[in-house]
Amino acid sequence: ENLYRITGWGEPYFSINAAGHVTVSPQADHGGALDLYELVKGLRQRNIGLPLLLRFSDILADRINRLNAAFARGIARYRYPNTYRGVYPIKCNQHRHIVESLVRYGTPYNFGLEAGSKPELMIALAMLQPQENPEPDQQNQPLLICNGYKDREYIETALLARRLGHRPIIVVEQVAEVALAIEISSNLGIKPILGVRAKLSTQGMGRWGISTGDRAKFGLTIPEMLTAIEQLRRADMLDSLQLLHFHIGSQISSISVIKEAMTEASQIFVQLAKLGANMRYLDVGGGLGVDYDGSKTNFYASKNYNIQNYVNDVISAVQDACVAAEVPCPVLISESGRAIASHQSVLIFDVVATNDINPPLPKVKGKDHAILRNLMETWETITVDNYQEAYHDVEQFKTEAISLFNFGYLGLKERAKAEELYWACCRKILQICRQQEYVPDDLENLEVNLASIYYANMSVFQSAPDSWAIDQLFPIMPIHRLDEEPTQRGILADITCDSDGKIDQFIDLRDVKSVLELHPLIEVHQPGTPPRVEPYYLGMFLVGAYQEIMGNLHNLFGDINVVHIQMNPKGYQIEHLVRGDTIAEVLGYVQYDPEDLLENMRRYCEQAMEDKRMSLEEAQLLLENYERSLLQYTYLKPTSGIHTS
Ligand code: PLP
Repeated sequence: ENLYRITGWGEPYFSINAAGHVTVSPQADHGGALDLYELVKGLRQRNIGLPLLLRFSDILADRINRLNAAFARGIARYRYPNTYRGVYPIKCNQHRHIVESLVRYGTPYNFGLEAGSKPELMIALAMLQPQENPEPDQQNQPLLICNGYKDREYIETALLARRLGHRPIIVVEQVAEVALAIEISSNLGIKPILGVRAKLSTQGMGRWGISTGDRAKFGLTIPEMLTAIEQLRRADMLDSLQLLHFHIGSQISSISVIKEAMTEASQIFVQLAKLGANMRYLDVGGGLGVDYDGSKTNFYASKNYNIQNYVNDVISAVQDACVAAEVPCPVLISESGRAIASHQSVLIFDVVATNDINPPLPKVKGKDHAILRNLMETWETITVDNYQEAYHDVEQFKTEAISLFNFGYLGLKERAKAEELYWACCRKILQICRQQEYVPDDLENLEVNLASIYYANMSVFQSAPDSWAIDQLFPIMPIHRLDEEPTQRGILADITCDSDGKIDQFIDLRDVKSVLELHPLIEVHQPGTPPRVEPYYLGMFLVGAYQEIMGNLHNLFGDINVVHIQMNPKGYQIEHLVRGDTIAEVLGYVQYDPEDLLENMRRYCEQAMEDKRMSLEEAQLLLENYERSLLQYTYLKPTSGIHTS
């Protein structure tokens, strides 16, 4: 458990059972645990290929419950005289089944949606249930926060949605939007509820820290806010300005940053109220972090606070400022995406091959070149007392062996032996290093240099783009064989033909590690069939936020199969199966017509047969393969794996 730190990042949803399999408890503390390995096996039997994304809708429900429960507790604790109305930022994961579930699970809490673009606004308008006869000031209704760049149609659509019974709040992110909102609302005769997004001076941290400060992409500076207020006052619409919004970036690791932002935003809020705006809502944006490495620290892959700490800091900061300024406390809104959506999705993929650096020890005879004898002698005499010195010796021998080869004094076979002896020495030294409490600096890279490559049947670009683009860490581990010592150390390479398509940074205690503890693949030999490897399944966890929509079609590896799992009294049921792309579909995305391609192939085959370059059987086999492949998944089929040494 410690190797993969599952108790840190996995609680309360993921753990390990007595069979050595990862289990999922989608309903957290109330309900049964599913054996993830058995679940995947069952799905494979239903012909659902890997890679595969499992979505547990009960986890989504639990995340919403937790966030709302934390606000309810905080509001009770501080006797905060107003309510919480969270919204889910659709950008985080727009898939229909997710937004549908969110709306359903959020209904008891009047949980709303946040749109960051016109397409997302269109989702929100159609997915949220409008109220038939809402009171003008009714608070028990989900909010629809309208963020992002806005054109005339965006604002018009949002305003007209008030007539349907929605409660859209148009958040001004650029000064020009104020004039547009004034003009459109007076044309339509519909009074808007407006908000302003502040550019706080509080600096976010880490990867997404550029969302604040004067150079931030969105929001109004304080002088711009004053201009907006004047424009609204002149249009006699200052009472429409009701909300202050800020977003200091996603995955805020340190609670001190949140406290600081809250202090600044709360002061802006009360000052806006004092200037005559009708301030009723404070929207604290996203940023609530996820503990990807389980370390509970302010490391960028973690966070040094829990949901309740976050909520308490939000509530207390705004209450302190409002009480001191004698301004009514606002409805609190948060736009937490990552913290709601991450845990529900698990990516499962199989390993198709490895390249262990584990050649057999070559034989060295008395008449062999001295460099080979030196290497062999070193190998024989490596001990815990001399392993560091031995390492420097073998490094030097290897360099010399290559020079000798370059000058023609060593043949290809001898060079191969020298390399094999070098690796054998390194492995022996590494075994000793692993038993030491402290590894000398010069030997630190040994683990990485000797790591095997595990070829994973997936595309990093499609399924974990943030791991490639911004080095984001996700917990990754085998989902079975956890009762067996993982004797191998490896990095993961995906099946794209891009050398960036790899994962070589893994979570560790308050840091990253460059290799992952893995099991050797088990080869199965059956007479008359080529050797194959037993399925070895890895899981990448906490991938429900941002990864799916940011994923791309590099090498034309398309969308993967998605299975929505819901718990029921008998165990679980497959709520939805969303099949991944076929090859014909991805070819269509890049404007190929599969029928045209097939037609070309038929013509080429006819020509080749006419020229006697191809037999009829060969042509049939090729065309059958081509046609069948068009309808198949873009990823590799199981059991095609080989173990390369
Ligand atoms: N609100 C806004 C305006 C955002 O830009 C984002 C994403 O960065 C979010 C909310 C969601 O943030 P998070 O996923 O950190 O909760």
